[in-house]
Amino acid sequence: AERVLSEFGMEMDTARDPTAVGVSIGIAIYPRDGTSAEQLYANADMALYRAKHAGRGHACFFDAEMDKAVRTRRQLENDLRQAILRRQLFLEYQPIYDVGSDSVSGYEALLRWAHPDRGVIDPETFIPIAEESGSIVAIGEWVLQQACQEATRWSEPANVAVNLSPLQFMIPTLYDQIERILRKTGLDPQRLELEITEAALMRERTTVIATLQRLHRLGVRVVMDDFGTGFSSLSNLRAFPFDKIKVDRSFTGALEHDPAARSIVRAIIGLGHSLNMPVVTEGVETETQRRIVIEEGCAQLQGIFFGKPDVGPSQFQSTLNKVVGQG
Ligand code: C2E
Ligand code: CA
Ligand code: CA
Ligand code: CA
Repeated sequence: AERVLSEFGMEMDTARDPTAVGVSIGIAIYPRDGTSAEQLYANADMALYRAKHAGRGHACFFDAEMDKAVRTRRQLENDLRQAILRRQLFLEYQPIYDVGSDSVSGYEALLRWAHPDRGVIDPETFIPIAEESGSIVAIGEWVLQQACQEATRWSEPANVAVNLSPLQFMIPTLYDQIERILRKTGLDPQRLELEITEAALMRERTTVIATLQRLHRLGVRVVMDDFGTGFSSLSNLRAFPFDKIKVDRSFTGALEHDPAARSIVRAIIGLGHSLNMPVVTEGVETETQRRIVIEEGCAQLQGIFFGKPDVGPSQFQSTLNKVVGQG
């Protein structure tokens, strides 16, 4: 396998530009991994799938654990296709606290899946599956529709933040979809915030920029999520019309014991100021973290210190009052 990998890992001179060529290899061994050609082929394919996920130029042997993991994944993939129709998806809302007004100004919608056998599954587990199988497009539309509709029924006209998968930007009708949902639900576009990560900006940059600009004109705000974890955050901030930056929660978690984390948060806030983009910190869990990020000039905070993701605003308001009242 080593030899095959190195033989193929070369540059090919095609008619246009030199193109890097690489191979991934999946290996199944007779009779351990199968006694028929079909079975061996299927298992080698499974190993190949794993090899591809390890990145370019890997070889992988089949093993029984792999078989189990792939089966579980396929099962979830199938179940997920039915999840919307069977009404198994639901949203929880986490408060976003606004420093300037000393109140909750909005809520982030976080998707949950109530699986009939496995209980409530969190998005970190099933969103990658939905993205790979393509069902994220329908699910993402459901989330938008549901969040906008629920927000119109809240006891207060708070903002609602919705996460968008990078794949949703691949569908040319995203703008029309959002516009239609706003019209149908009657939600004021000014109340809607869309959170996207840098992964959404990697492909079709001009299309993405155009979509973001149209959303802007509609009054919808766009937030760069998980800031600081991507590849080219700084140039992206310049190229794309964002309204807000959300610092990744890994920095918040490190604030108390890692001076570098604090320096980075300070730098991001400075950057935000000069670009006219308020900075939000997520993952605020402790009083000390809260104090630090406010000292550094964060405009908005989010995290279990202020409230866990939960059913809805009126409920949050009472818990938040308790937290703030004590402090
Ligand atoms: P995210 O956008 O970074 O969302 C914030 C995550 O931090 C949520 O995890 C939230 O429950 C968690 N969190 C809140 N407060 C704290 C805290 O104080 N400490 C820590 N350590 N974590 C906290 P969750 O709900 O499991 O969601 C995980 C990710 O799944 C989200 O990360 C987002 O990327 C994705 N996601 C959630 N809902 C959707 C959705 O509707 N569509 C898409 N495409 N992605 C979604
Ligand atoms: Ca988010
Ligand atoms: Ca985030
Ligand atoms: Ca995230």
